[in-house]
Amino acid sequence: MIYLDNAATTACAPEVVDAMVPLFRSAFANASSVDHLPGSVARKAVDDARESIASMVGARSEDVIFTSGSTEANNLALSIENRILTTKGEHPSILDPISARSRANDGFLKTDGSGLILLDSLNDDLSRESRPTFVTVIATNNETGIEQDVLALSKIVNAGGGLLHFDATQAVGTRRLNMRKDGIAGLSVSAHKIYGPKGVGALIASAQLRKAMAPILRGGGHERGFRSGTLNVPGIVGFGVAATLVSQLWAERRQRLGELRATFLEVLVGHLGDAVIETVPSNQASPHILSIRLRGTNGRALLGAVKEKLAFSLGSACATNKAEPSHVLLALGIDKRSIAETVRISFSADQSADEVREAAIVIAGAASTLSGYSLSA
Ligand code: PMP
Repeated sequence: MIYLDNAATTACAPEVVDAMVPLFRSAFANASSVDHLPGSVARKAVDDARESIASMVGARSEDVIFTSGSTEANNLALSIENRILTTKGEHPSILDPISARSRANDGFLKTDGSGLILLDSLNDDLSRESRPTFVTVIATNNETGIEQDVLALSKIVNAGGGLLHFDATQAVGTRRLNMRKDGIAGLSVSAHKIYGPKGVGALIASAQLRKAMAPILRGGGHERGFRSGTLNVPGIVGFGVAATLVSQLWAERRQRLGELRATFLEVLVGHLGDAVIETVPSNQASPHILSIRLRGTNGRALLGAVKEKLAFSLGSACATNKAEPSHVLLALGIDKRSIAETVRISFSADQSADEVREAAIVIAGAASTLSGYSLSA
């Protein structure tokens, strides 16, 4: 089985698993039980992980609020009362909470045909409120891979007195983000997208953002009162190791992912020619995500045809079970028929070029059978 659904989730790095095992077996104490030694050991492990995660994104360790993942981190960030501006291409964990609070002055930023924010319109939008406008943007889109210009957005939002939050779930493993230097007030991150465990993530929030936020889980007052509940120590430790690996390897991984993506595309285009249409230009997308339309081929039928050999997806894992076409692709102005022909291939830095080549050949073969194209090579 060749796994090409790494935007849905990644395998844990071996270092991550090794670091987590002792926390289940011997060092299992509650990180709040600091009155005894085992509890202090657990607390120290959490503190170290917090430090590694903060350092991965140029934040302070007190900025890190552990959550169950990015869905929860996004919901926590949106606990603010300020006016919110966002894009139509966000993850449902941003769009649904905004729609649920149903405020007339929240709104959407204008984007181009690739989903990139039109910066001039952001300028106009910011200058209307007394309380800082909260701008939340998906830094790297989970369906198309499009990468927003973090620095340009930060410059405009900060000059306009706003607060800038990124859903950095897909970005943090392949891009350098530095909250303090880049003027970012909040980041949502999730361990299972960066070779860490599932069920753990964080909202990393500056002091200014924390002042505007409200708790989402009340109880024992964990995580500075924002998120009560016994800490998931093994998960947090695994997340910490994954973050350290990101700090050390992100550039190398980015380079490798770019090579894998290029290899895959070259083989696929070599077989199917102009039936392969990239949803967004390669040079504007994260190297780990490739959204492509295979003209004349139904994506779901293709997925079914290769399911014994390959795993990839039609869009995001969250949208895969929905019958409706992807809201992200609709927001780009793509018609429903073309959306039905679109698939998402997402790579791991640990994959071999041969594996990726083989996957492209399998997809090309199945696509040509389904659509009636003949293979050109
Ligand atoms: N935001 C983005 C951009 C994502 O890709 C995902 C996961 N698909 C989430 C948020 C939700 O993350 P989690 O699974 O950690 O709740």
